[in-house]
Amino acid sequence: MANFFIVGTPIGNLEDITLRALRVLKEVDMILCEDTRVTKRLLSKYEIDTPTLSYHAQSKLSKVDKILTLLEEGKNLALVSDAGTPCISDPGVLIVSQVRERFGDQVAIVPIPGPSALVTALSSAGISVAEFTFLGFLPHKKGRETLFKEIANSARVMVFYESPHRILKALESLEKFCEAERGVIVARELTKIYEEFSRGTVGEVRAYFTQNPDHVRGEFVVIVRGRS
Ligand code: SAM
Repeated sequence: MANFFIVGTPIGNLEDITLRALRVLKEVDMILCEDTRVTKRLLSKYEIDTPTLSYHAQSKLSKVDKILTLLEEGKNLALVSDAGTPCISDPGVLIVSQVRERFGDQVAIVPIPGPSALVTALSSAGISVAEFTFLGFLPHKKGRETLFKEIANSARVMVFYESPHRILKALESLEKFCEAERGVIVARELTKIYEEFSRGTVGEVRAYFTQNPDHVRGEFVVIVRGRS
């Protein structure tokens, strides 16, 4: 029976990878990557020369078929994303669902846990996160305002991913819909050189990023405290 390993890789710092992940990446017949150039930086650091194959949300059916054929032939494959845990807000989920659909229990889908930006941000947020809701990326247009209203009304901690292009707009919307004292934590560039946690009320954090445009760069996780 073929194995399909879902391998967590670093979200920035290349040392954040488990011994098991390195062994699996060395041993499999092929590594499926979101962007082979990104994954090759990791592989070359650890002198892993396993062949790679790219996949993405728009991968043609022929590419998906090739992956399914490899599994049918009994080849062991590993799936990685550009950063963190595959399938958490990235296109890996499409392949995993197709593998599950085609093979059922005939292929073992094996998780190899590693970092995820979501959990990394929550681990150091310094707030109680016994319960939270993860929203992934918010929609760009349709439904965006409704979601901000939902966040504003939630008694539970809400967490979402944001890009540098929309982080200011997101903070402006939080300021518009939440009460003034609502707390927010923005985790930026986790595990990287410019790692930063910005904490305060939504207005304070929005003002910080407005006044420091050079910090409106990189990758962001936004944690919004629950309504009290
Ligand atoms: N699969 C990844 C995970 O496990 O976290 C998430 C992939 S998603 C396509 C990319 C988004 O995750 C970024 O836009 C950002 O919101 C968040 N992210 C990834 N790496 C990050 C980092 N080092 N610091 C802050 N946020 C990060």
